[in-house]
Amino acid sequence: METKIPSKNLSLNATQAWKECLKIIKENVPNITYNTWFLPIKPAELDKNILKVEVPNSFFIEWIEEHYNTLINKTINQVLGENGKLVYVIVQDDDNLDLFDDVPIQKKSIPSKPAEEEHETFLNPKYRFDNFIKGEGNQLARAAAIAVSENPGETSFNPLFIYGGVGLGKTHLIQAIGNKIVNESKNKKVIYLSADIFTVEFVEAIQNNTVNEFSNFYKNMDVLIIDDIQFLIGKEKTQDLFFHIFNTLHQAGKQIVLSSDKPPKDLNGLNERLISRFQWGLTADIQPPDFETRIAILNNKAKSYGISLSNDILEYIAYNITTNIRELEGCLIKLLANASLNSAEINFELVKKTVKEIATVRETNISIEYINKVVCDYFGVDENKVREKNRKKEVVIARQVAMYLSKKLTRSSLKTIGLHFGGRDHSTVIHAYNNIDRLIEEDPSLKESIDTIRNKIELGL
Ligand code: ADP
Ligand code: MG
Repeated sequence: METKIPSKNLSLNATQAWKECLKIIKENVPNITYNTWFLPIKPAELDKNILKVEVPNSFFIEWIEEHYNTLINKTINQVLGENGKLVYVIVQDDDNLDLFDDVPIQKKSIPSKPAEEEHETFLNPKYRFDNFIKGEGNQLARAAAIAVSENPGETSFNPLFIYGGVGLGKTHLIQAIGNKIVNESKNKKVIYLSADIFTVEFVEAIQNNTVNEFSNFYKNMDVLIIDDIQFLIGKEKTQDLFFHIFNTLHQAGKQIVLSSDKPPKDLNGLNERLISRFQWGLTADIQPPDFETRIAILNNKAKSYGISLSNDILEYIAYNITTNIRELEGCLIKLLANASLNSAEINFELVKKTVKEIATVRETNISIEYINKVVCDYFGVDENKVREKNRKKEVVIARQVAMYLSKKLTRSSLKTIGLHFGGRDHSTVIHAYNNIDRLIEEDPSLKESIDTIRNKIELGL
């Protein structure tokens, strides 16, 4: 690292100092690494020779420290002098790590201060409407959330109850409501927490004899947002208390927003009177995103990392990861990490490998019919001929390739595969499989054909 930087310049501000650091870093790391891990870092404050920077999550810190600690230290010394130090501040939470661990974490605890004082909202500023991609699956929930955020407590959407599967954006959406209200009317008291934290805090309040304070704290809110309300199931006492808080707030025209993994009527084990109240306002579901929405989400996320991915790559990921947005994001992060670690470009091979890692043992939905269709299209053979007793060379090869790929790409038994090809028995399928397996070794052009077909099948083309 021989770059000449004017030594230790105390008149630098945080932005300039970080800019100098970036210059050095850029020369010493691959572009992809620079774009992925260093560009998203924002300078925050320079206090003497301590430079505070903001990173999106703790994964950044871990990754940078693990791989570039020496470079960072040298760089900081060059720019800020011998005693220079870099301090990371996490501006968003560890949500991106959810891909490794699906359990929601909320580390902070609820303050026991009176509500008049400024309280912590527990909202994460990264969850906003402007970065929540609209799609068919979330249309109603999103529209209702926006309406509520514009007129909290004043619409008929009270409570607003949003439900849906894991990783589909419930937390994002209900926090976006809170963030918007907090940003637009500073005097509104908003609080967000998950129902399990609520339960834990309640138990603590019982132990500390502070149940009244606890209950008043929440009754004083203008907007109460409770995530994963299904956690109240089986917790009778907490449900009772929540019932009272709910009534007080609702009567006072305060806004209540709830999320759950199921619609109210399916929350077995929840008190009927709560279930009926949950249905007073609007219940809106979030469904898994369609293909276009998945692409839009990926695109958006990639851009926020300063990376642009080709359409092929976006489509491949969106095609293969279908039911969970957290997993989509996870795939992207893993991809960037893999590319940086190996100083590799993000090419199709790497994408395939990463998607495979992420989507490890997912059931394939590929049908034998579909495989047969793609194979026959490729070889220009009539699909029905493959099922008949036709011995023409191209028909035989198409039949055998289709059987081979059916074995490779589905979980169907040999018997089932045989049945799909005109009721042939399982030994015919084994013979076809072994034959193609051997031919692939001998004939590179056949191997290429099969790879192409396989790609088409896996991409649904
Ligand atoms: P849930 O609470 O339903 O399990 P989250 O709200 O935690 O899901 O969403 C998982 C991840 O996916 C979050 O990082 C969130 O920002 C992101 N996400 C979900 N839906 C969208 C969307 N429509 N647009 C952009 N990002 C989304
Ligand atoms: Mg959630």
